[in-house]
Amino acid sequence: MDMEMSGNTLVCPDDARPAADPLPVRESPVQPGCRSCGGQLHPFVDLGLSPLCESFQTRRDLAQGESFYPLDVKICGDCWLAQLREYVSPADIFSEYAYFSSFSDAWLAHARDYTAAVARRFGLDEHSFVIEVASNDGYLLRNFVERDIPCLGIEPALNVARAARAIGVPTLTEFFTHGLALGLAGEGKAADLVIGNNVLAQVPDLNDFVAGLAAVLKPEGVLTLELPHLMRLIEGNQFDTIYHEHFSYFSLNAIDTLLARHGLRVFDVEEIWTHGGSLRLFCCHDRSAHPELVSVERLRAAELAAGLFSLDAYRKFDRQVVETKRWLLELLFSLKRQGRRIAGYGAPGKGNTLLNYCGIRGDVLDFTVDRNPYKHGRYLPGTRIPIEPPERLAEARPDYVLILPWNLKDEIMAQLSFIRDWRGKFIVPIPEPKIIP
Ligand SMILES: [Zn+2]
Repeated sequence: MDMEMSGNTLVCPDDARPAADPLPVRESPVQPGCRSCGGQLHPFVDLGLSPLCESFQTRRDLAQGESFYPLDVKICGDCWLAQLREYVSPADIFSEYAYFSSFSDAWLAHARDYTAAVARRFGLDEHSFVIEVASNDGYLLRNFVERDIPCLGIEPALNVARAARAIGVPTLTEFFTHGLALGLAGEGKAADLVIGNNVLAQVPDLNDFVAGLAAVLKPEGVLTLELPHLMRLIEGNQFDTIYHEHFSYFSLNAIDTLLARHGLRVFDVEEIWTHGGSLRLFCCHDRSAHPELVSVERLRAAELAAGLFSLDAYRKFDRQVVETKRWLLELLFSLKRQGRRIAGYGAPGKGNTLLNYCGIRGDVLDFTVDRNPYKHGRYLPGTRIPIEPPERLAEARPDYVLILPWNLKDEIMAQLSFIRDWRGKFIVPIPEPKIIP
């Protein structure tokens, strides 16, 4: 139940109140309104308490407690932006970030294909300028560097930005803000192409950020945004893609409303496979010549047909999430009762949401493995399952491997085909828990 402590419920009637002694104004315990439009928020899905999904624990941390925060997503009844309250500032989350994009082959191929497509479509060459916001370890911009297209990455995480510079990608170690964008534009560094891939979800002040995108984009420039699509999250039962580091979950409608406030508009959209189903939006200034393509209207109609503009779809999702938890636990517990050994694959943010929400710990999963050496010897937040190098699977020969980054399951099952040598099987938890022999 979403309780707003409005002034009316706190204040006693005028005649009973001493005139000189007004009641103090108290901050509401719930988020006061939508972070994009200020509209009223309604319940969407409540995943209980969870630690920050990137707060991997060291051996020494195991003797300490951990901080857990509510993972309770609301939906705005006006612009239909799904959102979490910001419990921890991005400065705390992203200044030393464990996520290096370069550890997935599929991501690297995706980045190469994107670069080839936009360079051709928008005629980018050595006279153009490209800015990527939240450029991670340079896995995308390196493709522009290779094509001699001048570019600049902006990446707040020190360790990740350092890795980008080491491979020749010019990178500013900063958070992107309207202020920073105005500074860049003032130095003549407005861009022909501005890229924001999987960053908007992590921005607490959406309006400042989008004002910055508008400020740094040339009048006929193109802004491309990639973000997980709320419609796919709901359809695909992808509740585990919800975590504290992602404050917002977007429909096209929520994006349209946000961009319009800053003089921007969407002129084309592609649906892509990343993160279980994402949108790649091509945007420009309102007055720019880019005509709006039919893909945009088609997607608006699909969102309407999917019920995204009524509260019922959101309530139904919450019930489906509870059911999924019960199915997954039944499956894992019955395997444990038969004496089977289960290991995990991957230590992604989505895995931590799933494991914490379902209460799956070391008594069910012996360990998990990950390709990222940063995580080796550490433990998953909250559940404290040990993270080992991938070679550990061949030594331990578990009967089942639970694939946590299910969005990359085909790539992972191909890499791990050797588990069939000992008749090992895979478990994919989402959209519904399933054993894959
Ligand atoms: Zn809103």
